[in-house]
Amino acid sequence: APITVGELAEKLNRNASEIIKLLFMMGTMVTINSVLDDETVELICMEWNVECHKEIIIDESDFEEQINNEEEDEANLVERPPVVTIMGHVDHGKTTLLDTIRKTHVTEGEFGGITQHIGAYQVGVNGKKVTFLDTPGHEAFTAMRARGAQVTDIVIIVVAADDGVMPQTKEAVDHAKAAGVPVIVAVNKIDKPGANRDRVVSEMSELGLMPEEWGGDTIYVDVSAKFGDGVPDLLETILIVAEVENFRANPNKMATGTVIEAKLDKGRGPVTTLLVQNGTLHTGDALVVGTVFGRVRKMTDDRGRELKEALPSMPVEIIGLNDVPVAGDIFKAFDSEKKARNIAEERLNKKIAQERSSSSAMSLDDLARQIEEGEVQDVNVIIKADVQGSAEAVKASMEKIEVDGVRVNVIRSTAGAITESDIMLASASNAVIYGFNVRPSAMVRKKAEEEGIDIRLHNIIYKALEEMESAMKGMLAPVF
Ligand code: GDP
Repeated sequence: APITVGELAEKLNRNASEIIKLLFMMGTMVTINSVLDDETVELICMEWNVECHKEIIIDESDFEEQINNEEEDEANLVERPPVVTIMGHVDHGKTTLLDTIRKTHVTEGEFGGITQHIGAYQVGVNGKKVTFLDTPGHEAFTAMRARGAQVTDIVIIVVAADDGVMPQTKEAVDHAKAAGVPVIVAVNKIDKPGANRDRVVSEMSELGLMPEEWGGDTIYVDVSAKFGDGVPDLLETILIVAEVENFRANPNKMATGTVIEAKLDKGRGPVTTLLVQNGTLHTGDALVVGTVFGRVRKMTDDRGRELKEALPSMPVEIIGLNDVPVAGDIFKAFDSEKKARNIAEERLNKKIAQERSSSSAMSLDDLARQIEEGEVQDVNVIIKADVQGSAEAVKASMEKIEVDGVRVNVIRSTAGAITESDIMLASASNAVIYGFNVRPSAMVRKKAEEEGIDIRLHNIIYKALEEMESAMKGMLAPVF
């Protein structure tokens, strides 16, 4: 049934302007009253990782339901460790705090292993466990939330006592509030001569985080991330909050959870950090993440130790997926690899079909408008890189290139190898493919030749930017 932009926004619990913006980025101009066809609706849902279409509903909602224990029998639920994210202004001590916690508590009651940075780690506190997401900064947190993933149970906001509340502190408060998760304020650098904890408390209270002694319910803990003072208190506070919130999961079912990080490793292929949020993940389990699938061939913890199973709230690094998934996407384990493959393939086919139709419509539209107005010429670009961060960096830089009358339009930028789906999209939208530290396979190369797609491979970003800029200058229509 036809649906307007406004109606869809309401259904998805989003702002209409977000849909308008998304479609604009894809080259289609709509208003709040525009009627969207089914394909466009599906595309929007895909983009945000939410379910719209019937077949997708079955899969995706099933994934989310399982994470959230919906319709779970109380008797099956057991306590699980809290998952904590540390946020705060730059230089206020997030990294130092994460390192200190890790160093001092990682060995409690456990043996060996060498610290591996997999994007998250677990420590022991008084016989319990706490999981920390090891990606300070708000981007990771917001990016995951933007994809609909709710992975954090508790947010610690670090405020340096010698500096007070700063712009990114406010941002952190906003993010935590938007996510609706409990906040603990760590008043850091308490060892410094200029430290003023009262100022931090009063400034944070102005942002709505009142301490208990002032009638609020926010817990403040004074710490020195550098020297370790107060860190045990902070960890105990986390346990107290966790007990109140009663975080639970059912370990006796197939695992569901979220992708924390993913990259392409030259030797090992796609390497993915998963946070198991519900159920138990076993080696050998089949997995689906977005359009990616595979089998857990090898699973290691944050100390590089091989595991056979991972319980709820546990971060693990796995290999065995057929491509690099997107951070923030939900995964689900299946006992049958065939089923996993079918779901992933069905999703992939749908995605390709959608991208194809929407992008060809887009380029036709663009073409028409360009001819009519003789104004903007878009250079459509697909960016693939070994890590998501580089893909985003290249995208941002490319979009900043300024050449009169010509604009770069990045239609896809993701981590992972250049695949056939990229070639199809490029072909349908007349795009150039840029690869950073990735190479297309012989098969993909052949396909690109058949479709007349230009694949440019680079290792250095500025070289690619230079090349793009001169191409854009060359493209300028002659002025008479
Ligand atoms: P981030 O940007 O929030 O991750 O901050 P960092 O952890 O990188 O810390 C910024 C600087 O503050 C570094 O030079 C740290 O050594 C220093 N620092 C962090 N915590 C403390 C602390 O508790 N006391 C003191 N004196 N310095 C600290």
